[in-house]
Amino acid sequence: MADTAHFGSRQVPLEDKQALVDDVFHSVARRYDLMNDLMSFGLHRAWKDALVTAVNPPKRRTFALLDIAGGTGDVALRVIESGGAETHATVCDINADMLEIGRERAAARSLDDAVTFAEANAEALPFQDKSFDAVSIAFGIRNVPRIEQALAEAYRVLKIGGKFHCLEFSTVDVPGLDRLYDFYSFNVIPALGRAVAGDAESYRYLVESIRRFPNPQAFAAMLRAAGFGRVTFQQMTGGIVALHCGWRL
Ligand code: SAM
Repeated sequence: MADTAHFGSRQVPLEDKQALVDDVFHSVARRYDLMNDLMSFGLHRAWKDALVTAVNPPKRRTFALLDIAGGTGDVALRVIESGGAETHATVCDINADMLEIGRERAAARSLDDAVTFAEANAEALPFQDKSFDAVSIAFGIRNVPRIEQALAEAYRVLKIGGKFHCLEFSTVDVPGLDRLYDFYSFNVIPALGRAVAGDAESYRYLVESIRRFPNPQAFAAMLRAAGFGRVTFQQMTGGIVALHCGWRL
C-alpha cells in the first residue's frame, strides 16, 4: 500500500500532503498574524516568548539561528530583538507568500540586515552541516509530511553543542479544559477563520492537525530517535502547547 499522511482528520497520499498544506498557507498568509492573535487571545506571544527565553541569544557574541517553517518571521524577529548586535536569523519556509510578509515586517522594523529569508523545504534544507548555533520551529512541524526527515535535517545543520527547539500545539491534559478547548477549536476557530481570513476550511485543517500530532512523550521519543540528547519538554497553558528541546552533543 502507498504511504499516507494525515491532512487534518483525512488520510491522504504522502506525496499529496505538502501541496494541500501549501494551499492552506497561501490562503491565510495576509491574515495569518492577526488570526494568531485572535485565535489564541494573544497567548501565542507568551508561548513564543518562552521559546525565545529557551533560545537565549547571547548579547556579546555571534549567534546564528535557523527558524524552520518560520512563516512571517515572528519568532526570528523576536530572537533578533532579544539578542545582541551579532545575532542573525535565517527564516526558512516552503511558502513564498508567508516569507514575503516576513520580509515586509523585517523592513518595517529596520531589521532586514539581521535576517535572511529562504524558500526551502524543512525536509531538504539548503544549508551546510553544522552551520547554526540554534534551530527552532514553531507551530510548523505538524504541517511537514515527513517529520522524521525534518528532524534529521534540523540535527544535521546544528553545530555540535547547538540546541533544537520545537514549539507545537500538544495534548490538553486538564479535565474540563479539554472539552472547552475542543468546543472552541472545532466551532469558534473555523467561524473566526471564515470571518477574518475568508477561509473556514484552512482553519478546520489547522485544528484537526493539532489533534493528530503525537503527545509530548511520543514526540520526545522522536527527538531522541533523530539523535538529539538531553531532550526535555515543557507543557504550557494546560498542555495546549509544548516546547520540546534537544541538544546536538
Ligand atoms: N513559525 C511561524 C509562526 O509561529 O508564526 C509560522 C507557523 S505556520 C502555522 C506553519 C508554517 O509552516 C507555514 O508558514 C508553512 O508554509 C510552513 N511549512 C509547511 N510545510 C513546510 C515544509 N515542508 N517546509 C518548510 N515550511 C513548511
